[in-house]
Amino acid sequence: MIVAPLSSGSAGNAYWFESDGTAILVDAGIGPRETKKRLESIGRDIEQLTAIVLTHEHSDHIHGAEKIARKYGIPIYLTRGTLDASSIDRDETSTYVFENNSQFTIGELQVHASRTIHDAADPACFVIEARDGTRVGIASDLGHADEKVVRHLSGCDGLFFEANHDLDMLRTGTYPWSLKRRIMSRFGHLSNDDSLTAVQRLLGAELKTLCMIHLSQKNNHESIVRDMCARLLRRTGASIDFAIARQFEVTGLFNVARQRPRVPPPGQMSLF
Ligand SMILES: [Zn+2]
Ligand SMILES: [Zn+2]
Repeated sequence: MIVAPLSSGSAGNAYWFESDGTAILVDAGIGPRETKKRLESIGRDIEQLTAIVLTHEHSDHIHGAEKIARKYGIPIYLTRGTLDASSIDRDETSTYVFENNSQFTIGELQVHASRTIHDAADPACFVIEARDGTRVGIASDLGHADEKVVRHLSGCDGLFFEANHDLDMLRTGTYPWSLKRRIMSRFGHLSNDDSLTAVQRLLGAELKTLCMIHLSQKNNHESIVRDMCARLLRRTGASIDFAIARQFEVTGLFNVARQRPRVPPPGQMSLF
């Protein structure tokens, strides 16, 4: 499966997932022209898009959704809560409502949705599964990573996971107190500390690609997240491709594939 974060952070979120001829955009927080431009920079055409799948109704996740859907005739998958809380015009777009804690199929991709805890109507995170069994998890805008989310995302081959803010930077930063309180609450965003605690629990034998997403421009710094992740990976001895998603450019193309245990040819089988 190919995954490309096109944009990540409070100025817009969009993540491209592609496998076996199916391409979906998880969130469409940037407009059609910019989405098209960023896709072209990685040799992809927006016309290849099969569907848009939304996590929740905040504008940094849906700003471009209706415009892209209408312009290119692409369906939008979302929860009933997200649809009702958004201004997406149901007469002008094809909308498909999914339930959280269920799974649905888009072309060759299977999408497993699970509810997250965030100040939105019915927010979701996803595990996207390809035909060959490759599983990639994506979760951002988490007030906290509860047991259910951790369970849902475990056993993935690739993980795109929020590391929103450094607590000290947020506390001492310039945001008004009400906004600081919202971000820090159990319905806000994941701090680096909480994010890394969850990631540590999600490090499994399968996980080969880890990308931290939705970093705050004001209250976080790439180098802090990079150092924390490097320390964690050193401590646990995990050998993983690691990256941090960018806000204003495509982060890159991640090729995530399920690593199967090698099956020895019959002649090499040990006999007991
Ligand atoms: Zn967001
Ligand atoms: Zn949000």
